[in-house]
Amino acid sequence: MTEGHTAGKPKRRKKRTKRLSVILLIELLVLLIMAGSYFLITKYGMNDGSSDKTPINSEKNDGKGKNNDKQNTEEELSPEELEALREQERLMREIAERDALIEKAKKLTLSYDYDGAIELIRSYQGKDGGYEVYPALVSALNELEKEKASLVLYGGSYTSVTQINHIFFHSLIADTSKAFDNDYDSVGYNMYMTTIDEFKKMMQSMYEDGYVLVSVHDLVKLVTDENGNTKYVPAEIYLPAGKKPFVLSQDDVSYYEYMEGDGFASRLVLDDDGKVTCEMILDDGSVVRGAYDLIPILDEFVEEHPDFSYKGAKGLIALTGYEGVLGYRTNELTSPTYEQDKETVKEIVRVMKENGWEFASHSYYHRNLQEKSAAFLRDDTERWKKEVESIIGPTDVYVFPFGVDIETTMDHYKSEKYAILKEAGFNFFHGVYSKPWMHIKNDYVRMTRRPLDGQAMLEFPERLADLFDLNEIIDPARPPKNW
Ligand SMILES: [Zn+2]
Repeated sequence: MTEGHTAGKPKRRKKRTKRLSVILLIELLVLLIMAGSYFLITKYGMNDGSSDKTPINSEKNDGKGKNNDKQNTEEELSPEELEALREQERLMREIAERDALIEKAKKLTLSYDYDGAIELIRSYQGKDGGYEVYPALVSALNELEKEKASLVLYGGSYTSVTQINHIFFHSLIADTSKAFDNDYDSVGYNMYMTTIDEFKKMMQSMYEDGYVLVSVHDLVKLVTDENGNTKYVPAEIYLPAGKKPFVLSQDDVSYYEYMEGDGFASRLVLDDDGKVTCEMILDDGSVVRGAYDLIPILDEFVEEHPDFSYKGAKGLIALTGYEGVLGYRTNELTSPTYEQDKETVKEIVRVMKENGWEFASHSYYHRNLQEKSAAFLRDDTERWKKEVESIIGPTDVYVFPFGVDIETTMDHYKSEKYAILKEAGFNFFHGVYSKPWMHIKNDYVRMTRRPLDGQAMLEFPERLADLFDLNEIIDPARPPKNW
């Protein structure tokens, strides 16, 4: 069995229950309509004047009066005939059901989930048997298999997963006039942050260039050898020719206190439709809601362009803990709103995971881990698990603060720090580098990420030349290099 098979099971069961309730509803409706028409016929049938009948008869002649025909004759049907009619109706319903299934499968292929689409068709069970007895399903399946066969490894753009880009951002600047107001932290924002306009242009440009979001977990798979030992090996990602898989992540997303009043969102919330959006506090203290940061912007972009995402993947959110998460001060364990904040965050995280987002540890205190001791890392990790993982759920991804790796080795990690993180359940380790770089070892994966911030755009523009034309990207509101 493939991984996709087992992973897809609970989801399918859910879909099946949903489909079943839809069928039940339709059946109820049909019954209601029949009861209604029976009532109408018995009550008004005898009073039908010839003047009323003429238009009905002419409709009948046009072939449009089938419903009336049915109503009138149904009464006179023998039980056998009535049963045949019901059977006919059931067949029609099943045909509609199969058409809906094919539509659903086609929708999955918009985000290249051909395996999921094929599995969906194969799992069909009608009254007469499996998918193979229904020509419409067989032909849809053949079409899917044909399209799947035309996909190429990594879209033909790369020969190895190690060439795949992983780009990252911090919180996006929503109001440039506040971030770049020349106060003491403007230079930091100019170096390390990206504006909303820049981010949107980057995504548009990458989309047009064939880039497709994938999860870090899509890059490798764990295999078991003949001795029962597991090891990571590159995974296959099949995409239409010309597509380029890439990973995206966003760091911190804590909406730290130092950012207050500087033109950033203040926290994530769920809007009235249950979608993730942001809150931002204006100068007069009023709170506005909208897409003031990366998550809702990317959600909306993928909704409009499902082909920008492989199997629904979005991004990786790397969280610290020292000022809470997602704008909620969940580090204040005795705060009167702690329990409520925790529940709110859990709900936002649940919605995000459902929409393809994943989470990573960015350490608790955000310190340089190469300089800090192993004992520090042990405490830091324990605290992160206690205060953050307890809310957002388990993860095996670790994103180093400042992009500083625990080791500089080009070989296998061997430090106590690695042992601590591995023991804590982390298998993916992410530093920062200007180009794609990746190590796949038996027991872990190390992958660097490329910053797409002001420093990269203004100080090292040549490093981003392969990704986009910066002249079209850089926000005119951004100051020139001032560090
Ligand atoms: Zn950070």
